[in-house]
Amino acid sequence: TQPSRQLSTTSGDFSSSNSPNVRKYLGTYGLTPPAVESYEVQSQRCLRLLAMKTAPIEKFQYLVHLKATNVHLFYRLLGENIQDLTPLIYTPTVGEACVRWHEIWTQPEGMYLSWSDRGNLRQILDNWPHDVDITVLTDGSRILGLGDLGVNGMGIPVGKLSLYTACAGIRPDATLPLCLDLGTSNKALREDPLYMGSRTPKVSAEEEKEFLDELMAALTDKWPSIVIQFEDFKNPFPAIERYQNKYTMFNDDVQGTGAVIVGGFINAIKASGVPAKDHKAVFLGAGSAGVGVAKQIVEYFIKEGVPEEEARRKFWFVDTKGLVTQDRGDKLAEHKVYFARDDNNGRQYQSLSRLIDYVQPTILMGLSTIGGAFNQDILKKMAKLNDRPIIFPLSNPSSKSECTFEEAVLHTEGRCLFASGSPFPVAEWDGKLLTPGQGNNMYVFPGIGLGAIISKAVSVTQDMIYASAESLSTSLNKQEVADGWLYPDIRRIREVSVVVTRGVIRAAQKNGVDRATELRDLTDAQLDSYIKERMYNPYNERDNIGNIGEEVNQLLAQ
Ligand code: NAP
Ligand code: MN
Repeated sequence: TQPSRQLSTTSGDFSSSNSPNVRKYLGTYGLTPPAVESYEVQSQRCLRLLAMKTAPIEKFQYLVHLKATNVHLFYRLLGENIQDLTPLIYTPTVGEACVRWHEIWTQPEGMYLSWSDRGNLRQILDNWPHDVDITVLTDGSRILGLGDLGVNGMGIPVGKLSLYTACAGIRPDATLPLCLDLGTSNKALREDPLYMGSRTPKVSAEEEKEFLDELMAALTDKWPSIVIQFEDFKNPFPAIERYQNKYTMFNDDVQGTGAVIVGGFINAIKASGVPAKDHKAVFLGAGSAGVGVAKQIVEYFIKEGVPEEEARRKFWFVDTKGLVTQDRGDKLAEHKVYFARDDNNGRQYQSLSRLIDYVQPTILMGLSTIGGAFNQDILKKMAKLNDRPIIFPLSNPSSKSECTFEEAVLHTEGRCLFASGSPFPVAEWDGKLLTPGQGNNMYVFPGIGLGAIISKAVSVTQDMIYASAESLSTSLNKQEVADGWLYPDIRRIREVSVVVTRGVIRAAQKNGVDRATELRDLTDAQLDSYIKERMYNPYNERDNIGNIGEEVNQLLAQ
């Protein structure tokens, strides 16, 4: 069922709060066009306005304006058109918006904190006019794949928090987009007269750490159960290590990404028919994303009864220098060491294709940023080795994807279990339409955030992250499972987020990090209703003047 249908019938007559009587009462009669419009009509106008604009960035700007002037209408529109509108408010359009943020900016959203503000951060937070449940925080240093954009990076926290609201019903006024202004290494921006941040080079890592220490303490002092989500930091690992046990924080680039891939991966393993212990994975790309994903897959294997040492050895990583081994003669980046092979197995196989001959993997993952790296030869080998080869080309955007869905279907004769980082169209095989999976972080981060908020977790544990993945894998409905999907239909995202949120809360309870201990006694069904009740529902919101319409009508009826 579409939430729109369900909800618009129960939401009753919104026009009552905007009726001529109310307008007279408020003294606004005559100041608006005479028609008293339903939200359906208003949505139609919005969609037509959007369709009139050709450039995605113009559509983006219109949606910014709509959110600022009619927030509930914005979220109704977003909720009902999540698939079409997400690319306009988040990737890819938000990337272009961030690059040009200083040119297209019209009104402030969120908070900015500068290096020169240190010592006063707690006091500045008092200027924020609302109570905050969750903040998304960036220093702008690695916005999507676009490099350091300084305070232009604000588009990311703003867009991401809109998705928290649309997907998990976190109240819009309880979200705080936060952009750090610690200088930027982007010289062109520093010299651009329209740039709105500090025109100084980026502070050192040590200075940033100091700043973050003060900020984390200030945020948590101001709002004791705030959830702090880090996003698009150039080097995400130090902050995760430093804060994950001390504050309610997580980093979506690392932890959310790992979880969403594992969510689809669990379903792929199930569909493959091969027991967990018999899988072998080749990873093209050993960057932070590749290793982060693999670490969470190790966790899955362990939960399936494979000892850690054995699980670790199921992975063969390839980077620009070839197979990642402990003895290959370069100093390995720290994050690669865990998976570096010490048995020399595969060492002599220089190309990906030869390595596949040698390893005979069941799983091929791409996080290399090398578009087309999974060529016909490689895909055909995977198809020959496996009934249901697991092929996840995860590099973004589509042009960097290691293969397209169409190629994967064609060269595996429609047998691949496929998920990509970027969207691909459906493909036909043998008269059947096949739908690609997309490992979109949107499936998990809203539920991780809402789960942490509702349970009042003191920290976001690895078990909570893992629970988001596992819950996601169980959130498919019968039809989706029957159609061989690895991920649920994104249009059901609010339902999916309830399942993910419940899993995250249960994990928080298991770990004893929940402060809302009264929820421990609820059954799953009770917890689900509790979650749904807590979710912001734009259909139940009256309008900017609250319930005054009803009150006035009652007054007048007396
Ligand atoms: P990264 O740090 O730049 O890592 C890229 C890795 O690929 C490095 O290990 C690099 O080797 C390796 N590589 C580059 N060219 C290669 C080649 N020709 N042959 C073999 N290996 C090569 O990037 P990242 O942050 O890990 O992200 C990687 C990709 O994952 C990006 O495209 C990103 O969009 C995607 N991603 C997807 C999702 C998602 O689907 N939800 C989430 C996050 C990231 P060296 O180590 O030797 O340099
Ligand atoms: Mn990101």
